Amino acid sequence: MTAESITTTPKTDLKNLTLPDLEKFLQGQGKERFRALQVFKWLYQHDARTFDEMTNISKDLRRELSETALISNLEPEAVEQGSDGTRKYLFKLGDGNGVEAVLIPIEGRNTLCISSQAGCAMGCEFCLTGTYKLTRNLTTAEIVNQIMAVERDLITNPPALSVDPGQDGAESDDGDDDDGQAQSPAGIRNIVMMGMGEPLHNLDNVIPAIRIMIDGNGLQFSNRRVTVSTCGLVPEMARLGREIPNVNLAVSLNATTDELRDRIMPVNRRYPIRELLKACKEFPLPGRRKVTFEYVMLGGINDTLQDAKRLLRLISDIPNKVNLIPFNEHEGCEFKAPTRAAIDAFHKYLIDHNVTVITRDSRGGDISAACGQLKGKLEKA
Ligand code: SAH
Ligand code: SF4
Repeated sequence: MTAESITTTPKTDLKNLTLPDLEKFLQGQGKERFRALQVFKWLYQHDARTFDEMTNISKDLRRELSETALISNLEPEAVEQGSDGTRKYLFKLGDGNGVEAVLIPIEGRNTLCISSQAGCAMGCEFCLTGTYKLTRNLTTAEIVNQIMAVERDLITNPPALSVDPGQDGAESDDGDDDDGQAQSPAGIRNIVMMGMGEPLHNLDNVIPAIRIMIDGNGLQFSNRRVTVSTCGLVPEMARLGREIPNVNLAVSLNATTDELRDRIMPVNRRYPIRELLKACKEFPLPGRRKVTFEYVMLGGINDTLQDAKRLLRLISDIPNKVNLIPFNEHEGCEFKAPTRAAIDAFHKYLIDHNVTVITRDSRGGDISAACGQLKGKLEKA
């Protein structure tokens, strides 16, 4: 540590602050409250990277701000583009940790999968991120900066349109009706917190990040376009529902008996299936919105019709849709992908029983950007 860093108070990273937090921060410095809204808009609607860009704010105030605050940023260290249009972004954080975000174009609409932690403490047997243990939580700024960096990249490197116009009208992946509020075609439409880490294990930073995402003066995502995925931390599910009631919930169920779930997802020993489903039922979702149940199909482990039958029974009294994710194999993990026949039979069983099912193709497979393959170039301990 240098002498300088001991004597100066650390600057506040403004991207860690929701709009009300920013108001408090500026009021604490004797500034008028409306300044916060001006600064907030500069950050998220104009992507200002320096205080000097904030031209409707006096030079004096800009100088004062630059003495107490900073505007952090992420630049991708590497961007890989898959043959299917998927893009994987590797971000190197200030302390050398790496995290990844994945952009998945679906029928010309972009879904961005972002990370919430470097590594993950949950230790699911089938997940590569989980084998790296938890290094640390991402800050609110690091979470929103992933989105902002990808939005910038989409402006400078717009993806080639992956759909021929004749196919338009195909159903979107999320099955939602169109709310007519889509961002520009090149922009990000959906945010899913399904990258590295367990978002509900980092709620103190994830909740403000979501508030910035859905703030009409912030990143302006509709709450129906933001999804949080969890392995099933029951008390945190309740907290998320209390604090941000309208966000979409995805739950990685992955097994239909406690015996198997205990084995492949250690979190189940703390919060078994029955408690998890109760928390799903109690999660406040507006109108016709549904809980997404993710189900990673592990060949020969959880991929039979018996499993499909039990799955149906478990979720039938919760408004639901199911994402079937064929296991993505990775080195050092003994699980195998399911056969095509097993996937099709499982899928068909659910469809025949009126469940909305999406079987995820292995998007980003050729660039190791598919589910559970993100590792942020961390070295294995
Ligand atoms: N921690 C959160 C979100 C990140 S994991 C959660 O567990 O929900 C995102 C999804 O990837 C989860 O549904 C998880 O079950 C799935 N997944 C993990 N490893 C996988 C793999 N090797 N193949 C396919 N899906 C995997
Ligand atoms: Fe963590 Fe999710 Fe991977 Fe489990 S599946 S180890 S909770 S990232």
